[in-house]
Amino acid sequence: MTGRITEVFDSVQGEGLYVGEKQLFVRFFGCNLRCKFCDTRLSRFIEYEPQELLEELKLYEDDYHSVSFTGGEPLLQVDFLKEVLKLSCTDGYKNYLETNGTLVGELEKVIDYLDIVAMDLKLPSSTDMGMLWGMHRKFLKVASKKEVFLKVVICQSTKEEDLIEALGLIKEVNKSVILVLQPNSFEDYNQMREKLETFRYICEKADVTACVIPQVHKIAGVK
Ligand code: SF4
Repeated sequence: MTGRITEVFDSVQGEGLYVGEKQLFVRFFGCNLRCKFCDTRLSRFIEYEPQELLEELKLYEDDYHSVSFTGGEPLLQVDFLKEVLKLSCTDGYKNYLETNGTLVGELEKVIDYLDIVAMDLKLPSSTDMGMLWGMHRKFLKVASKKEVFLKVVICQSTKEEDLIEALGLIKEVNKSVILVLQPNSFEDYNQMREKLETFRYICEKADVTACVIPQVHKIAGVK
């Protein structure tokens, strides 16, 4: 069995609640979505056997918080991912999954081998795609068996009604989950400042813990 991997590298986490943590990154090729703000349209990959990928991770000898399985969408290659996660657990790595939060059947197959799930909620007015609430609801239920936090990308086009729908979903499925409001890095932060503050206030009023965290790796100029 082989998996299609675009790159393996070490860096610091630039998004979400673990921003600043040193991680190993495994970027999976391919995605089932097409978000308007996507910054990872991938065109190349290398094929790895699970053990071969583990050997590559072991070449990095520093201390790392965890291995970030990112993409693209790692769950698209779930059988390969499962084998890699099993091996990395056995080798003492912590497994951190970055996911678009839509492939629930696939998540069920690997949830036992994950430590942290960094899950996106795709707001239709941010992505220019259709509504994915049903998939996100089921996904968050499964992800909540482990440590999970949520991320929404906020654009100038993002509508308040989408945020309110997301808050309803959070309150229904997992009230204690933290929501990260991430401004779209392709747009002017200053023009979105007021919207971000308003959105954070709406979250507070709804009793959902939220914080604004931009893509720090882009500001710092690291990979
Ligand atoms: S889910 Fe992520 S990788 Fe896939 S299109 Fe959206 S932003 Fe890009």
